[in-house]
Amino acid sequence: MKGRQFGRIKSDKELEALIRNKVIAERRKLKEKDLVTKSSIVEHYGLELDFCPLGVRDGMLVDNKKIVLNSLLRQEERLNFTFYHELTHYFINSDDELLSNIHECSGNIDETIEKLCNCGAAELLLPNEEILNAITEHGFTVTLLPSFCGEYSVSSIAAGIQMVRCALHNCYLVIANLVSIESDSIQMSFERQENVPQFQLSVTYSASSSNAKYRITRTTPIPQTHAIWKAYAEQTHVIEEKSYVPFRSGKKLPAKCDALYFRGQVIAILNVDNIIVLNPNQLRLL
Ligand SMILES: [Zn+2]
Repeated sequence: MKGRQFGRIKSDKELEALIRNKVIAERRKLKEKDLVTKSSIVEHYGLELDFCPLGVRDGMLVDNKKIVLNSLLRQEERLNFTFYHELTHYFINSDDELLSNIHECSGNIDETIEKLCNCGAAELLLPNEEILNAITEHGFTVTLLPSFCGEYSVSSIAAGIQMVRCALHNCYLVIANLVSIESDSIQMSFERQENVPQFQLSVTYSASSSNAKYRITRTTPIPQTHAIWKAYAEQTHVIEEKSYVPFRSGKKLPAKCDALYFRGQVIAILNVDNIIVLNPNQLRLL
């Protein structure tokens, strides 16, 4: 049902814009007060920060009062991303109007909130304008991401999310890591070999441009014939014109694959449509 007491239902793109404006305003306040460390930021918002082993979860926000980060996470950049993801949960939970807008939306609310928190974290770590400027100068290629990671000390997750969010064409970001396969599923995916550990590449993070129709589920396995596997196996940059977006359902959406091995994982941008070249006039509209 549309147009109830909170007004018109917001699209995903409009919700992302609301989050982006919110975190840009908060980032400005933090910068004015010169608050850059996690402890000073949580103190500013009256939150607590804790580190605990959390299993497969990277972090969580408890009762909108405490950010807990997984003490088993070793990568500083991933910890940073998780911290800002949980902080964005706090921003959303503390803003009734924003919460109302999110709950008015159709679709899975939890998935929408997770996606918005990833967007907020990416924007807090790496301002959108910086990415737009680089894309305008160097083109829309996955090979830009390592330089963003180096320059802004952000994870490839944050840089990748920001990059696909800048896209005017339909595209998906996939970050794939090698994970061990549970013994139950070995026979389904591979020829069984006794006493040999079995691994597969799985999606650990994904994101999509604002006009993309689908979402790629975390832990979706990457088929061994996919260009992402090739980039991993050869530890290189692979461009494959006739590739596809892999979905857990087995559906394959035709796409051009631009995959790069970087820091032990693969970052891939799957371009469903032709890349639209940005120009300064379009930049002002984003
Ligand atoms: Zn979350």
